[in-house]
Amino acid sequence: MGKGRRIAAGITGGLAVLPLFIADRIVKKPAPVIEEQERLPAYWTQAVPELPRFRPLDETINVDVAVVGGGFTGLAIGYYLKKLDPSLRVAVLEAQRLGSGASSRNSGGAPNYFRGHGQTEEAQRGYDLLKQFCIDNGLDVELEEQAPMITLHRNRETATNPSLVGGDLHLALNSSYYDAAVDGISNRLHPGKLIAGLIEANQRAGVELYEYSPVVEVKPGNPVWLHTPNERVIADQVALATNAYSPGMGFATDRMFALHHRVIVTRPLTDEEWADSRLEQFPYRLEHGTFFTHTVRRTADRRFFYRHLLGHRPFERTDWNITTDDIAYGQEALLRRYPWAEGIPIDYEWHGVTARTRDRWPVAGPIAEGVSIAAGFNGNGVMATHYFGHVLAHQMLGRDHQDMGMLSPAPEHPYVPPELARSIGMQSWLAWERRRDG
Ligand SMILES: Cc1cc2nc3c(=O)[nH]c(=O)nc-3n(C[C@H](O)[C@H](O)[C@H](O)COP(=O)(O)OP(=O)(O)OC[C@H]3O[C@@H](n4cnc5c(N)ncnc54)[C@H](O)[C@@H]3O)c2cc1C
Repeated sequence: MGKGRRIAAGITGGLAVLPLFIADRIVKKPAPVIEEQERLPAYWTQAVPELPRFRPLDETINVDVAVVGGGFTGLAIGYYLKKLDPSLRVAVLEAQRLGSGASSRNSGGAPNYFRGHGQTEEAQRGYDLLKQFCIDNGLDVELEEQAPMITLHRNRETATNPSLVGGDLHLALNSSYYDAAVDGISNRLHPGKLIAGLIEANQRAGVELYEYSPVVEVKPGNPVWLHTPNERVIADQVALATNAYSPGMGFATDRMFALHHRVIVTRPLTDEEWADSRLEQFPYRLEHGTFFTHTVRRTADRRFFYRHLLGHRPFERTDWNITTDDIAYGQEALLRRYPWAEGIPIDYEWHGVTARTRDRWPVAGPIAEGVSIAAGFNGNGVMATHYFGHVLAHQMLGRDHQDMGMLSPAPEHPYVPPELARSIGMQSWLAWERRRDG
């Protein structure tokens, strides 16, 4: 294409998206997490003794640090702040039940690497810290280390060094959907047990925990003011640990976007189903792809666990009513991969949301006066949330940390197009991916 035509195409493209940029500024954004219905618990938190309950914030409090969000990240931040300085008054404010976000709704993979960024020394230190945390707090989180994992490729050409291909794979996997498998190893754990342990550790450390206390307004400054529907928190510093909910609160809106997933867990498999499933031989499976991947794992009580992508919701809404269409699509996609699963009753089903950044790296560090953030774990946060929480706690208290350089504030991340352009782009891309899969 000649230079003149390229310039003309650029101008035309720019003019085409201009209305989307303008509309994005005008359209009123929906209120964030407070509009969500109560989240139904996932399998993981029903498979542990009932988690303790905490009262909502019912008075105005003055604290040294307030942490917004009580998932893996918020509970790690609270815990390490108190470990670093037991004299601090630290409060964690959670909109619903502690751990009820992605932290109890995931697949439990606990890699010792940051996905998309390789197996670095920092990542290994993060993994070691999580293990040490479990040891220090006497936790058994059913950690399985270096367990076999396969990455499954639909097309053989995309697989480097496959261990099984074609008919051999079809036979071994009892599925003819994939055409190549690449061996690997992975670590995994029981997310419900980790949440329970984090809650207990925070209680022991003296962190104040509040449930059903959504923060509806953050007023940065010195001090920072937080508003819940009925009360206020006056804090020297605030940590936002709100992952995919952060854009809905007005933070990192142009650096992060959410993707929604559905997970199903069957009843425990019979011996025959277990043999058909090949979960003994291939207990943990990731599908090769970009975002549109499926995860399979087994649970300790021999259930079949399956995650698939639902899509993207306009305006970064974090809730999703699973529709009959979603279920039908999920079932079709599942049976295309694993026909033997037909008719096996599903005991648990849930929705979960992940926060993505274009560089697959979390947004972490100061984001407004008195306010810091650690969010955007790209569907890979079981270990990373803990380590980023640890490093952020150090930064907030002005302490040194050898991996402080890991924290990367919002402006260092690539820009995500405004919501309308993003939504249209994402919907089209996801529709295309679904067609390709069908
Ligand atoms: C289906 C699925 C599968 C996944 N699988 C894996 C995996 O195998 N391995 C892996 O490493 N990672 C996985 N992840 C990602 C991992 O679960 C997340 O990265 C991690 O849980 C993020 O933790 P968090 O504490 O930052 O966020 P969350 O757990 O989402 O916690 C944020 C909390 O903030 C609260 N909140 C939001 N807004 C407000 C407000 N205004 N006021 C107060 N509280 C608020 C929410 O209620 C929520 O509890 C998966 C995620 C999903 C959804």
